[in-house]
Formats: sequence, structure tokens, C-alpha cells
Amino acid sequence: MDLDTYRPRVPSRLEDVYYPDGILAGQSRILRCPFCDCEHWHGASLGDRNSHCTPHVVVRGGYLRINDAYGNPGYVLCEPADAVNWDLERAMAQLWVLRSRYRRIRAEHDRINPWTAAERTRKRNLREQADSLAALLLKAAVSL
Ligand SMILES: [Zn+2]
Repeated sequence: MDLDTYRPRVPSRLEDVYYPDGILAGQSRILRCPFCDCEHWHGASLGDRNSHCTPHVVVRGGYLRINDAYGNPGYVLCEPADAVNWDLERAMAQLWVLRSRYRRIRAEHDRINPWTAAERTRKRNLREQADSLAALLLKAAVSL
């Protein structure tokens, strides 16, 4: 499995899109992003797309979190009725996000050169988070 290049397939629904004055503007494909779990809109045709995930810190469920989905390899828009194991495709995207999170936490851990007890605790906590993510990713045969 090569997470760097694998583009998961996603079900996308086709919807009419209107101008504010009510005139039909065209059609869009709408999907729930398997990387960031936000809704993204694309042109009407099926096939390969770069995702519209943003690099911002996002608020979801009332708390702030870094969006580790940014920079993903994209996805392939499909019809919802296509014979695809959507759960498996989504899991591939989530593995990419978890590996991205692992790399971010690991890099932060490596940057900290602790002088205080608080910094040592912070570094230890980052190490525990990174180790826990690494264990999960290695079980899924993902290279870190
Ligand atoms: Zn997204």
C-alpha cells in the first residue's frame, strides 16, 4: 500500500446549483471528504480530483484541532451506486491522516529541547502520542 499516491474512491451526489436569482447555474458533485470529513463541492464530472481540504486549524465538535488532512493525494469521485467498499476507501484516507498527524507530533517532539519540568512533561506526552499512533499505523502495515 502506498499512501503517498493512493487516491481513495468517494461517493459523490450530483446536484443542480442555482444562482441567487434562482436561475439554474449548472451541476456540482458534492461529497463528504474521507480525509477531513468536511463537505466539498466539485464540477459535475466523475474522476480524479485534488481535495479541497484547508490547512487551517478547524473548529469541530466545539474544540479546536489541527487539520492533518491538508496536502493529501486527493480522491476519485464516483457514483454512490458504484460497487465500491466505501468503508475500506475511507479507512485508507484516514490512515493517511493519522500518518500525517504522527509526523507532525513526531517533528514537534524532536524540536523540543526541554529545560523545565513542564517542557519535559510536554516532550514525554508528545512521545507517548507518537508511539501510540506508530503502533496503530504499523499494525495496518503503513510505513511511517
Ligand atoms: Zn477534505
